Amino acid sequence: MASIHEECGVFGMYTSPGSDVGLTTYYALFALQHRGQESAGIAVNDDGVISKCKDVGLVSDVFTPQALERLGKGSIAVGHVRYGTTGNGGRTNAQPIVVNHVKGAMALAHNGNLTNAVKLRRELEMGGAIFHTTSDTEVIAYIITRERLKCGSIEEAVSNAMDILEGAYSLVVMSPTKLICCRDPHGFRPLCFGQRESDGAWMVASESCALDAVGAKMIADVQPGEILVFDGHTMHSIDRHVGTKKPSMCVFEYIYFARPDSVIDGASVHEARVRAGAFLALRHPVQADVVVGVPDSGLDAAEGYARQSGIPYAMGFVKSRYVARTFIAPGQENREDKVRMKLNCIRDVVKGKRVVMIDDSIVRGTTSRPIINQLWQAGAREVHMRVSAPPFLNPCYYGVDIDSRDHLIACHHTVEEIAEILHVNSLGYLDVGDVHMLAANGGCGGFCTACFNGDYPTDIPGEREKFMFEQKISEKLQKSGT
Ligand code: SF4
Repeated sequence: MASIHEECGVFGMYTSPGSDVGLTTYYALFALQHRGQESAGIAVNDDGVISKCKDVGLVSDVFTPQALERLGKGSIAVGHVRYGTTGNGGRTNAQPIVVNHVKGAMALAHNGNLTNAVKLRRELEMGGAIFHTTSDTEVIAYIITRERLKCGSIEEAVSNAMDILEGAYSLVVMSPTKLICCRDPHGFRPLCFGQRESDGAWMVASESCALDAVGAKMIADVQPGEILVFDGHTMHSIDRHVGTKKPSMCVFEYIYFARPDSVIDGASVHEARVRAGAFLALRHPVQADVVVGVPDSGLDAAEGYARQSGIPYAMGFVKSRYVARTFIAPGQENREDKVRMKLNCIRDVVKGKRVVMIDDSIVRGTTSRPIINQLWQAGAREVHMRVSAPPFLNPCYYGVDIDSRDHLIACHHTVEEIAEILHVNSLGYLDVGDVHMLAANGGCGGFCTACFNGDYPTDIPGEREKFMFEQKISEKLQKSGT
């Protein structure tokens, strides 16, 4: 039950004119809602005319029946759910970004974070560019549009932009006649594509669970560095950037972000979590009576721990289905109260027992403590915590909102000290060496593990800059006395 925020989810589709592409995208965004709950948006292309709807809120809040009606029918659509890791979560930063240009309109949706966004934006602003948002996605849109002026096709413009962009980006781009998607050469964020048999529609999504939701069959993952172009019911791949960088898929997608029913880079997310639990059982065995998991992502790892250790698995917690992740508890400043609203321990499962509790991560430790307290209050005899991720020691620059080192509990305390702070009999983390083995098939060929071991696959900005563009604006305002 990590208090880390997800990044974003993207979706795109290409089919025959006059189709319900907006509605299909709406269903797909529901399946990607876990990746971002701050804002949602869809852009629909009807014969080159793009209509859009985007706003802050959950998919169900933003897309009323009237809003979907207004989007109308078309042949291409792109959709986005957002948790902002660069720029604030307000309406202006909602995606897709739509650009109207002499070379034709374009809509763009992005998952990830550029590491050279500040430098690129500064260069563009010095060249006269005016930005409307404070997100790095507008920088991408600007660069593709600029390259479009020099190129014969939008896919060439995207390919040229990839020579300039650094960091993490899985993109879905819609032109008047094409759907294009690409994944950065490191492959930080997932992206896959498939086809619906009933009408031959092509679909692109952050996770395969969105393809399942709209009846499409997954064909393959987009390779790191690959561009796919969907045009006139055909698809072709551009591989100029494939193999140019070390594959570095975010391993935390397997541990926490992705839905367990998704398959990423050929590996089942559920299976990866079960393996994490099995590794924990091998490295940190303990005499106990029952294994319980903290919903949601701790459940699969608990199954793996139980299977490997032979200790029975049981459902130790019930999660309220009706409390959204963005739930704010008015008058409940106390974290214990907030956790109780979301999660409740099943007393009979743990009473009088030696309990192994599996959770997906510990960030500050402030969320774990009230969960552990519930076990003690329910009468557990011993509580042994096992964590299906290694300790967080470094910030992420690739689109995940991991706290600064100041707040990461593992940066300031030993494992024994954290066990004492959390009030557990023992504590064991997943070994950082084992995370490379979570995907049975090796995933896309390599993983990013930087937040655990500081091994960043790219150059990183000097400081962590989630609100970097807002800061620049407020500094300017202060200087000008506005
Ligand atoms: Fe994922 Fe951590 Fe790498 Fe960020 S630093 S991409 S969260 S593994």
